[in-house]
Amino acid sequence: MSAATHAATMTPIFPGSRDAAGRPATLGVLGGGQLGRMFVHAAQRLGYFTAVLEPDAQSPAGLVSHHHIQTAYDDPAGLAQLADLCQAITTEFENVTAQALHTLAQTRPVAPGAAVVGIAQNRIEEKAHFAACAEVSGVSCAPYAVLETPDHLQTVLAERADLLPGILKTARLGYDGKGQIRVKTAAELAAAWAELGNVACVLEKMLPLTAECSVLVARGWDGQVVSFAPQRNVHEAGILAVTHAYEGAVPPALAERAREAAIAIAQHINYVGVLCVEFFVVDNGSAHGGLVVNEMAPRPHNSGHYTIDACDASQFDLQVHAMAGLPLPQPRQHSPAIMLNLLGDVWFGPDGQPREPDWYAVLSLPGTHLHLYGKLEARAGRKMGHLTITGPDVASVKTTARRAAELLGLPGLDAI
Ligand code: ATP
Ligand code: MG
Repeated sequence: MSAATHAATMTPIFPGSRDAAGRPATLGVLGGGQLGRMFVHAAQRLGYFTAVLEPDAQSPAGLVSHHHIQTAYDDPAGLAQLADLCQAITTEFENVTAQALHTLAQTRPVAPGAAVVGIAQNRIEEKAHFAACAEVSGVSCAPYAVLETPDHLQTVLAERADLLPGILKTARLGYDGKGQIRVKTAAELAAAWAELGNVACVLEKMLPLTAECSVLVARGWDGQVVSFAPQRNVHEAGILAVTHAYEGAVPPALAERAREAAIAIAQHINYVGVLCVEFFVVDNGSAHGGLVVNEMAPRPHNSGHYTIDACDASQFDLQVHAMAGLPLPQPRQHSPAIMLNLLGDVWFGPDGQPREPDWYAVLSLPGTHLHLYGKLEARAGRKMGHLTITGPDVASVKTTARRAAELLGLPGLDAI
């Protein structure tokens, strides 16, 4: 069923209610990672039962859910069980097959829907979508070329020297900087495409970024939209390291434009659920001045984790409200916040030996909120948890965040 069909028919699924057979109102999520876990926490707090479909027996979300259906994401029997148990279903990652969402949508409201997740799964379609709403959104993406065939490569090599130095990104399945190679010359580009297996890619011009920010939007079945203020993100080695969420973290004029652009991007595809739109801020002296849209994630996002502790409704609360047809009140941020991502590296000392982080010292700092995802094995680069610091003012939040980062040996101290 399409979003439009449900817009007319969606009856709110109230927490604590029971269906005709007496079964409790249950919300489902495809995928068992940390985003699924925090979604489950939000749904359960409101009084819903939850079901997670995830093949891994020890997944962050599966471990805390009422039901864990342990099958592949596209297993017909698993999907049928999920649809049977749940009154509405969402996904926590975009690389689930659009077919699985489509199958679920035959019998249940699914938010976001297969079509919009399909767009976000493919950088080529995603960029076409951004272009299609550029007039309304007021932002474009970085100059790029599509590379799908050897002929495309020859054309790019011959005619698009303007895109070098650039970043070659696989159209599908990239995340945390994976599936990307930076290239300076034509020879490097040809070699990089071969290294990526000659799969469909986009070559993007490398832009002189002065900052990066993202906007979280939530849109209901009825078209109502609310949003959080843009947050500024700092990446280390392609992975989000720090999110700054307070007034002034993004210059006000840019922040307003980014927020309006993200809303336009969600509206244009009748999006239902939480959407994160990532932006680059580029040197105003450059040809593309100001704000450039990078990509969108059809789900809550790592850069929005601070909303759990710093806002009166979190991105996960809004995901629950949106999919269940509940009202979407405009969220309010009550405290300035900084979020520090905790990668597996934190569990290893400078000597490379495993260590337990000094949680006692970290948790003795005021306004620290520790979230660990229940992953039992720490590996370098693996997202194990995050720490949000809130406080009465930006200066004290920064001081505490710096101290916590020092205690944990986090990189990017200068970024705080
Ligand atoms: P995510 O973890 O957000 O899914 P991803 O792997 O999908 O990441 P991108 O967001 O496309 O990848 O890129 C990762 C990071 O690389 C960006 O946040 C930015 O720091 C840098 N980057 C990407 N594209 C460009 C560009 N065109 N110019 C300059 N820097 C870029
Ligand atoms: Mg990104």
